[in-house]
Amino acid sequence: MCGIFGIERHEDAANYAYLGLYALQHRGQESAGLVSEHQGRFHVERGMGYVADIFSKRALARLPGIRAIGHTRYSTTGSSIQSNAQPLVVNTSMGPLALVHNGNLVNAAELRAALEQDGSIFQTTSDTEVILHLMARNPRADVAEALIEALQHVRGAYSLLLLSRDCLIAARDPYGFRPLLLGSCEGAICFSSESCAFDLLEAQLVRDVELGEILVARDGDLESYRQSVEAPPARCIFEQVYFARPDSRVFGDGVSDSRLKMGATLAREAPAAADIVVPIPDSGLFAALGYARESGLPLEFGLIRNHYVGRTFIEPKQSIRHFGVKVKLNPIRELIEGRRVVLVDDSIVRGTTSPKIVKMVRDVGAAEVHLRIGCPPTIRPCHYGIDMPTAEELIASDHEIDEIRELVGADSLAYLSLDGMLECVSGPRQSYCTACWTGSYPVDISGVDRRQGVLFPIRTEEEA
Ligand code: AMP
Repeated sequence: MCGIFGIERHEDAANYAYLGLYALQHRGQESAGLVSEHQGRFHVERGMGYVADIFSKRALARLPGIRAIGHTRYSTTGSSIQSNAQPLVVNTSMGPLALVHNGNLVNAAELRAALEQDGSIFQTTSDTEVILHLMARNPRADVAEALIEALQHVRGAYSLLLLSRDCLIAARDPYGFRPLLLGSCEGAICFSSESCAFDLLEAQLVRDVELGEILVARDGDLESYRQSVEAPPARCIFEQVYFARPDSRVFGDGVSDSRLKMGATLAREAPAAADIVVPIPDSGLFAALGYARESGLPLEFGLIRNHYVGRTFIEPKQSIRHFGVKVKLNPIRELIEGRRVVLVDDSIVRGTTSPKIVKMVRDVGAAEVHLRIGCPPTIRPCHYGIDMPTAEELIASDHEIDEIRELVGADSLAYLSLDGMLECVSGPRQSYCTACWTGSYPVDISGVDRRQGVLFPIRTEEEA
């Protein structure tokens, strides 16, 4: 769960990359960083927290040059500590390199162990660093060649941006788990996880970086290379369901459009005898609108969100996650009292949020509460870059739908079917990763430490 942005050959590179990160804040709120390149030297600003808090005007003034890359981070592998904040920057015999990564490498632990055996000293606990070590040990005259060679060894999900002294390189894994888009901004080449960053910069979306493609932007020119590894596409459809911003285009589809369709399909699959449809903001908004339009029921904004609280789930600590729901949402009695309510959310993960919201809605007098979920039951964790708890913590991994209904306290509960969900996106159904709903993992995960976030069980600064 990260956002990445890069720009090449723009006189305001760092400022534009900063704005790009601002638009990608929803993809990671733990830390953020920017690196710019000027006359062969790298300039780095990184910190913990929100983009707006990390980059002051002064900090941005310390980032000269026409090339820059940036990152917003939410850790799926490696601890939430400053040394893991990206971009990672290293000095190699090919010159300085900076790397940002969205995704999760499933064989990073294995590669790291082998590299350490051979004498490599790692500076972070992040899986991303493995790529830099592989490159540094196998230098080439052309940095792109060293990257292509290194990528032959890694498995899993990666959308990457690499900055060198003379170019900016974008790469996407052959499965295409995570999005990465190519754009054009005032004659400069730019890359972003999502198109909402291009909208902010008034940049044009050119196309997706293709699956397995490596695009080298150097002095305004673009060269495209392909990895030799062939793989069936496995785009993460959870980007459409929850993660991406609704005003973005991801994998060729408008996210809001996909969510509207998901809501409409859910209304057809699981109608409810009710008076109003209430979205759980913000993630349930578009699915609720789709549900309301299809069912003919009025949409009421019966739950109000405090926008100054981050996404409940995105805070890594259990305590915050738990009371975050109360901090975040408040029901409007006048809209809900005496009414039969269809509550719509995008997903249930642990099942800690939904019971609190159902109770909240009942406490202000709802006559009935029917919970509708815009994706199928989540039964397995993601190992390709979406933060998720272990299978044991996922409520649907060991509970039937009716048991979950009882636990959340709803009068009825229904999830969107897998087929229904896959009909709402334009790609062929086999081209999406559905592992979290089906348990069918497109890339072998046997090398992954199942305890999420502790792939490298090194003590964090906090624990030490
Ligand atoms: P839970 O209480 O664990 O069932 O959380 C469900 C809520 O978390 C839903 O409202 C989702 O919008 C949101 N959510 C789902 N998946 C994630 C995720 N990977 N990271 C953060 N939030 C999520």
